Amino acid sequence: MTVLVTGGAGYIGSHMVLALLDAGEEVVVIDNLSTGFDWVLPPEVELVVGDMGDQALVEGVIRRRGVDAIAHFAAKIVVPESVADPLGYYLNNTVKSRALIEAAVRAGVAHFIFSSTAAVYGEPAVVPVPEDLPLSPVSPYGRSKLMTEWMLADAAYAHGLRYVVLRYFNVAGADPQGRAGQSTPNATHLIKVAAQTALGDRPRMEVFGTDYPTADGSCVRDYIQVSDLAAAHLSALAHLRKGGESLTLNCGYGRGYSVLEVIEVVKRVSGVDFEVRISPRRPGDPAQIVAKADRIRERLGWRPHYDDLEAIVAQALAWERSLKQRNLR
Ligand code: UDP
Repeated sequence: MTVLVTGGAGYIGSHMVLALLDAGEEVVVIDNLSTGFDWVLPPEVELVVGDMGDQALVEGVIRRRGVDAIAHFAAKIVVPESVADPLGYYLNNTVKSRALIEAAVRAGVAHFIFSSTAAVYGEPAVVPVPEDLPLSPVSPYGRSKLMTEWMLADAAYAHGLRYVVLRYFNVAGADPQGRAGQSTPNATHLIKVAAQTALGDRPRMEVFGTDYPTADGSCVRDYIQVSDLAAAHLSALAHLRKGGESLTLNCGYGRGYSVLEVIEVVKRVSGVDFEVRISPRRPGDPAQIVAKADRIRERLGWRPHYDDLEAIVAQALAWERSLKQRNLR
């Protein structure tokens, strides 16, 4: 039995590949290397460079490698970019996911794990956000992912596929053993940007809005460590293989930090007091998103190991330093 990881050369997908290998699983990766890197994959992993929306390619891989489960990470993930390029996001995240799901059904793959997002909740009226809140994404990114959740649910009903949808909150940190991390040089995510600024790779960083209705005016997010998130996928895989029912689960720790608090932690852990500018709000950013995080514990028995913002920041800094040393930025 082999697990097909789409986007396995990317940030979260590469941690999933490591977690699968650590668990003794067979893995094959499909990645178009648009934002991922082949060097992050251990040599024993087969990398098929191509498009996860290419049905002939995907079905060929499924049959040749005996794939029983797909973990689908490949996606565009930047909220403001999705506001500027909605059709690109709907093509990549929605249309190609439809093709992938159809390929899975045709080739008889019974288990599907989908990387969804807290962005499906939009501006949640309730914090922490439970999974059964009415969904109203406020960005094309969130809508592109929500449509895939719907397609999966409908395909599961019609064709007997079973799935776990994991709605990620803000993913951060790096593999504690230093084997993988967030490698995209122009990444836009807060902890990555702050780590790069602390290491002098950016002259300063910006805080996008301090006029939100939150305690200090900056946006509040729930940061989950990337290996903890990969472990949640392994639990989801075990659940599906045992014959468990389809599930939709939040992946977060249930605790929020503001942008200003995160920057303070990065300054403290790095020991560098870098320049921070207050800038206008970024389009598509909700004020506050924190997970109601108990369902995944109840349903999958998942427990976090790295629920500690300082440790997450230290991992991000260590990975950034190792990219610099290896000249991989
Ligand atoms: N953010 C910021 N400066 C940056 C990057 C991000 O102020 O350089 C803010 C962003 O506006 C949001 C929060 O940090 O309020 C988290 O953004 P990120 O892009 O990391 O993740 P998102 O929540 O958009 O998925």
